[in-house]
Amino acid sequence: MTETRDTVILGSGCSGLTAAIYTARAGLKPLVLEGHEPGGQLSITTLVENFPGWPEGIQGPELIENMKKQAARFGAEFQLAHLGSIDLHAHPFRLQTTGGEIHTRSLIIASGASARWLGLPNEQALIGHGVSSCATCDGFFFRGHEIAVVGGGDSAMEEALFLTRFASKVTVLHRRENFRASKIMLERAIAHPNIVLRTNTVVEDVLGVEDNEVKGLLLRDVTNGDKSTLPVSGLFLGIGHEPNARMFAGQIDLDGDGYILTQGNVFTTRSGVVVPGVYACGDVQDRRYRQAITAAGTGCMAALEAEKYLEEHGH
Ligand code: NAP
Repeated sequence: MTETRDTVILGSGCSGLTAAIYTARAGLKPLVLEGHEPGGQLSITTLVENFPGWPEGIQGPELIENMKKQAARFGAEFQLAHLGSIDLHAHPFRLQTTGGEIHTRSLIIASGASARWLGLPNEQALIGHGVSSCATCDGFFFRGHEIAVVGGGDSAMEEALFLTRFASKVTVLHRRENFRASKIMLERAIAHPNIVLRTNTVVEDVLGVEDNEVKGLLLRDVTNGDKSTLPVSGLFLGIGHEPNARMFAGQIDLDGDGYILTQGNVFTTRSGVVVPGVYACGDVQDRRYRQAITAAGTGCMAALEAEKYLEEHGH
């Protein structure tokens, strides 16, 4: 017979691990399913300078590892498994995973968001051959090369700044005139001698597919339609993320962009009515703040609500 858990947490990023720390300390022995990107976005970032308590900043992977150790110390269990399907209509909830079937009385969805791609004709074919969405993973391969970063937000600026450690020149391509990035990040990028910011420019395709390596980019100036090529050997995407919530469609409410709709920060709904025992936290339900600290905050809230729900239902 399949054992029924008190709580299962989907995702092991900042929000999932915070929920794990709280539910584990409450004696609920949470099971954390680590999913396809263990550690979430912090695990592929560099220095985190705005997480309170670290005056000199802390490396993202170290912060995540610390949270994981903290949760494990109180009895959280971790499993590397992918969610195949889920039934939130039955109670206990049923999850089919690559590690088997799991039943749980409460569920905390902290499945985060994954990097977005441009959808260019040759983009997918050149992933791993010059096209990347992770500067910290792949920057090393571009020592002495000229590369491009697409995007106008903090991710793009952070990637561009990080990539100057390796690349001889980084061109940031942004589709509009104004940047979305915070002032401090934008100013750092502008001040860097090896970063060039090019606005009103979109990438039409990646060149080099016949040689199986990025040779350049086909660009279009959106103000006059002029096309040009930019010879680079790397293209990094810094254009934001997609929420990992598709598997919940039809079972809980999602918004038009696929984020989980929540009430009171963490309560999930079905046709506008709260689904008891199912909570969502972190980037999968936050299209506005998307910070490590806000993910941790909603992870804590989800854990406290799960705890309260179980208590009220006699567990
Ligand atoms: P974001 O703020 O949503 O920015 C995404 C950027 O990509 C925007 O400039 C957007 O252009 C552009 N973009 C989106 N789709 C595009 C497409 N198809 N083609 C071309 N450009 C496209 O995402 P983010 O930069 O990942 O940041 C997300 C959140 O994390 C923010 O709250 C940010 O502050 C935070 N963050 C903070 C740090 C830090 O403080 N160190 C680092 C990373 C992220 P438009 O501007 O035209 O929409």
